[in-house]
Amino acid sequence: MHELRIATEIIDIVQEEMTRRRLSTVTEVHLNLGALTGVDPEALAFGFEAATAGTAMNGAALKINLIPVGGKCQLCKNDFELNEYVFICPMCGSSDLDIERGEELDIDYFLGD
Ligand SMILES: [Zn+2]
Repeated sequence: MHELRIATEIIDIVQEEMTRRRLSTVTEVHLNLGALTGVDPEALAFGFEAATAGTAMNGAALKINLIPVGGKCQLCKNDFELNEYVFICPMCGSSDLDIERGEELDIDYFLGD
């Protein structure tokens, strides 16, 4: 399961940071997740919960900030956002697009003490 591996990587990063900052608990982990990653947020949240059980991060909530696919049209220069996997500019119909958002998979920040 792809999502479980990602959850484990997130946990590793947070735990390293916990050590560095001398934190003993984590309550929330905020994650940026782009639509192009193909990661299922529900499966990721489930994997996170399962993988944190019994660790210092037990009970930490994974808050996922979903980022839609977006970027700039090379023809009309409009900034666009795509809600479906149809890669044409919503303003002018051009397929000459510069995709700038949607591939994020990173920890924004986390809360703990
Ligand atoms: Zn356009």
